[in-house]
Amino acid sequence: MEPIIGIDLGTTNSAVAHLTPTGPELIPNSLGGRVTPSVVGLDESGTVFVGAAAREFQVLRPDRCAALFKRYMGTDRTLPLGGKTFTPEELSGLVLRALKSDAEAFFGQPVTRAVITCPAYFNDRQRKATIAAGRIAGLTVERILNEPTAAAIAYGFHEAGQDRRLLIFDLGGGTFDVSIVELFDGTLEVRSSAGETSLGGEDFTRSMAARVLEMIGMSFERAEATTPLLVARLVQQCEVAKCRLSREETAVVRVPDAAGEFKNAKDVTVTRENLETWANPILARIELPIRRALADAKSTRDQINEVILVGGATRMPLVIRRVKEMFGKDPHRRLNPDEVVALGAAVQAGLVGRAGAVEDLVVTDVAPFTLGVEVAKHFGGDLQNGFFDPVIDRNTTIPVSRVKRYTTVAPNQRSLAVKVYQGEGRKVTDNLLLGEFDVGGIPAGPAGQEVDIRFTYDMNGVLEVEATVVSTKRKVTHVIARHAKGLTEEQVRRAVREMEKLKAHPREEAVNRFLLARAERVFKELPADLRRALGELLDGFEAGLETRDPEAIAKHQEALNIFLSLHDPAGDDPTGNAE
Ligand code: ADP
Ligand code: MG
Repeated sequence: MEPIIGIDLGTTNSAVAHLTPTGPELIPNSLGGRVTPSVVGLDESGTVFVGAAAREFQVLRPDRCAALFKRYMGTDRTLPLGGKTFTPEELSGLVLRALKSDAEAFFGQPVTRAVITCPAYFNDRQRKATIAAGRIAGLTVERILNEPTAAAIAYGFHEAGQDRRLLIFDLGGGTFDVSIVELFDGTLEVRSSAGETSLGGEDFTRSMAARVLEMIGMSFERAEATTPLLVARLVQQCEVAKCRLSREETAVVRVPDAAGEFKNAKDVTVTRENLETWANPILARIELPIRRALADAKSTRDQINEVILVGGATRMPLVIRRVKEMFGKDPHRRLNPDEVVALGAAVQAGLVGRAGAVEDLVVTDVAPFTLGVEVAKHFGGDLQNGFFDPVIDRNTTIPVSRVKRYTTVAPNQRSLAVKVYQGEGRKVTDNLLLGEFDVGGIPAGPAGQEVDIRFTYDMNGVLEVEATVVSTKRKVTHVIARHAKGLTEEQVRRAVREMEKLKAHPREEAVNRFLLARAERVFKELPADLRRALGELLDGFEAGLETRDPEAIAKHQEALNIFLSLHDPAGDDPTGNAE
């Protein structure tokens, strides 16, 4: 049978996993890594590449790389990349295509079905954008699963049989999500979810970059506008330093010159205390979603048996300390915080495919937002439009179907405009318009003709709205999916064609490509004598590649790797296997 894969499509890192008879397991990428950076590069020859090589390339050629595009999913924003523009769906599609091909290499057969995760707080549009990205990659998205739910599923799978209430605390590169989950009798029930769509580790890195520039009398905004290479390299330096400060007390950030060169770099020493002072005001923003999730789950902090940490940014000692202060106990990280979401997605994929290993697990999730329609209200004799009337309250268990009765407001009103919104505001202007349609065929008569509006919210968080004219039983059904402002069928088809035109590098070349990109970056950072040495190694490596002789290539690879491990020890581990 064709395997169904589980994918964590992250802002910073993505991962793919599958369910084995003994549990979920990560599928390695072409570099042997367990996670793949969500970065897309496009070189001069029009070839795309994804992952660690693109992340390295980004430091030297930010104009030829795109990252963090998940933040723009479901918006009209496009991103420039190598002189072209791409939608966030297309870029995510390219990441998914790489993961799909890793899975195909792993299984030795085509893979076309996947469960993909998204932040619980993703709205309807963002979810549909995620489904579109999957389709652009040639994947049928069997289920969109909330990331914290996926994490809980991974824990639930590994630690079944213990009845507990968990709080899943997921702080990734760009988003913060919190969910409260109940585990009992082989059932996993999400009680509530809340979050912030723009709060994550990147914010710490960028704030660090800004402060470091400030320390040497420069402005980040100005640098961003005028010296993009300096900023790209500085941000990369800060990223490495930030992670180092999770283990050590100080780290040095080298600020390159305006051209991004390190010849006259200024060294700035940053302490963990510095970083924590800068990070604190950002981290303060976790409070509100936590309070809301607790309130919606009708839970106190004391009733949380365990706090589970998910996401790379939870490696920061400050974050761990803050969580401990809030809940009065040490948070848990038994499963790798980078992998747990993909593992949970793989279990869900097993549920979809009815794998034997998960027969007993029942999972229920909640709608993260209130869904409703616009209504008019009478104030004295005045009729005022623009009010939001909830049909499904936020954090209602899904799938769910709710019906509410509405009436016409004018005599002989023959049609009713149904405007569907999502959000928590009392006025519709504060909420997100998901779609609208007209219900015609209402019989003539006085005001007060009845129309039932039914909202059906499925497991993927996709909404269907049905209106019935009560007196005639006439029904109008509207699947928001097809009319939402996301990509239309035709747009998806066009994107598929466009993305197929882009050449991809053969998988076998991935290792060499990563090595080259990393060496090129390090080259720029080195003093003259070491530069010469690395230059020679690089020449040898490129000559070796020309010969296509595997033995010669391996020899040069090794020499380069030894050099890099000595002179770029802080360099990113392409495999993502480092703890
Ligand atoms: P996402 O789910 O958004 O793709 P991840 O869960 O992979 O993100 O987390 C990525 C974030 O975690 C990045 O901002 C990265 O800097 C941060 N991170 C990873 N390791 C560490 C560490 N050791 N210390 C501090 N931050 C870290
Ligand atoms: Mg994540």
